[in-house]
Amino acid sequence: MMSILKFCVISVLVFFYTSTVTAQGQPARTKRKAIICLTYDDALNSQLENAIPQLDSFGMKGTFFLNSIPGSTDVIGKGSDILLKWKQASSRGHELGNHTLFHPCPQKLGWQKDIAIEAYTLEQLLNEVQTAHLYIDQLEGKRAKRSFAYPCNNFEVQKKDYSERLRTFGFISYARAGGDNTSIVTDFSGLDKMKVPSWHVMEGTTGSQLIAYVDEAIKAGGLGIFQFHGIEGSLFRISNEAHLQLLKYLKENQDKVTVATFSDAMKMVEGMNLSK
Ligand SMILES: [Zn+2]
Repeated sequence: MMSILKFCVISVLVFFYTSTVTAQGQPARTKRKAIICLTYDDALNSQLENAIPQLDSFGMKGTFFLNSIPGSTDVIGKGSDILLKWKQASSRGHELGNHTLFHPCPQKLGWQKDIAIEAYTLEQLLNEVQTAHLYIDQLEGKRAKRSFAYPCNNFEVQKKDYSERLRTFGFISYARAGGDNTSIVTDFSGLDKMKVPSWHVMEGTTGSQLIAYVDEAIKAGGLGIFQFHGIEGSLFRISNEAHLQLLKYLKENQDKVTVATFSDAMKMVEGMNLSK
């Protein structure tokens, strides 16, 4: 039993670590392989039209944090293509994550008073998170837990951080927070799985800027998470070309970087922590 366990632990280590060998044939150092997650928020049509076909063409899996999806159309007898496409995305292995139902954000970011986070109690917000979970169950089948992304990267409701409540809530496995292009996780053992930082990619970011972030993650042997919105579409838009450049680069460097869904990446991180 112990030897099987040992073998598993060693296999995991071999999988996650690459070693370089000197001219003398001695191992020079071990370096952790970087992990990159491609995450996309708000269930935007440009993700269905552009991001997912690109990901599929490279055999890569993304994480899509969904809020409301239209389930009907204005044509009698015609179902919602959008609903169908998200179901298909899930069946092809893309991760569907929870992003609440109505996406409440702070008024200071332009949200109207009645629908802003300031209008919510903690209980209301948690009910919404649970409803969104059950809603995604209807799209792809039941799951005990899903990953979560904070709307507008905001942790607060009624001026209190609700991340601790999510940890014990039962429906949320890991939660993605915000950040910038320096947000690369290197301290895996100290990582709070309810506040995993990501780079909120801003409008007009170029392919080479996206690639520079991957290079930093490779250099650090860290976890880098892209937080995208519109791909050749509105909302923090980046071009199709920039997105394609990034995917090509990730494919070309697959010996140095693993592309994983957010949940798979977090499971890898937890596995590495356990094997220490
Ligand atoms: Zn959002």
